[in-house]
Amino acid sequence: MGSGRNYNPLGGFEVYNWVWKGELYHGLKVIYNKNDEKNNTLPLYSNTSDAYIRKVDGEVVQVRFYKDRKAFMDIDLLDNNEHKNPDGTKLSSDMIHIHNWGYEDGKWRRLEEAHYMTDSEIAAFKELIESFGSKKRMR
Ligand SMILES: [Zn+2]
Repeated sequence: MGSGRNYNPLGGFEVYNWVWKGELYHGLKVIYNKNDEKNNTLPLYSNTSDAYIRKVDGEVVQVRFYKDRKAFMDIDLLDNNEHKNPDGTKLSSDMIHIHNWGYEDGKWRRLEEAHYMTDSEIAAFKELIESFGSKKRMR
């Protein structure tokens, strides 16, 4: 787990900035950023897991999925988000939404544009999301 700067392509990271305290949802680890416990941001690269869960003030606010150890999709359960639909309209704050990652200006980053969960995304992640006990809606 780490930022792009301390990513080691051979595996693992030279600097471990995140800690797992033993908490799991459907086998996925909740991890904490040692340098930013308040916002508890998730790493851009995974270490050994395909996904990590972010909690803030005891609530799950995000799940980040990784492919080849690189972030590629976020499920956001955040309050007060300013994230937008593909048509530029603001997303409803009581709905869960999804961001994909991709190249923008030559950099791998999370795309600002988001979408509500599709039928196949709901089918894939319903049980996981329900296990969070969140008030946010999938639909
Ligand atoms: Zn968002």
